[in-house]
Amino acid sequence: MSHHTRRVFLLQVAVAAPLLSAVAARAQGAKLDEKDPQAVALGYVADTAKADAKKYPKHSKDQKCSNCQLYQGKPADAAGGCPLFAGKQVAANGWCASWVKKA
Ligand code: SF4
Repeated sequence: MSHHTRRVFLLQVAVAAPLLSAVAARAQGAKLDEKDPQAVALGYVADTAKADAKKYPKHSKDQKCSNCQLYQGKPADAAGGCPLFAGKQVAANGWCASWVKKA
């Protein structure tokens, strides 16, 4: 890496880092409302026990956001991000029809 290239690279990192943290902050966002159209479409509930059993016969109460492959929160968090609901926080105890068992 030439001296010049390295300088440019460092400058790019300096510019990108604050942008990335802004994106991360936005990803935290507000709690997802069950009435949000996207939430309704996926049958999201903040309490997995309240999932619509008739509509989602494969649902079981041990399925929840906190053990879903897509959940971005830490185990101790009450809520966390989910790529299906960008900018919102889903409840650790929540559930939606896109639940996938964490590997
Ligand atoms: Fe929760 Fe997973 Fe549905 Fe996201 S995809 S809302 S983490 S169950």
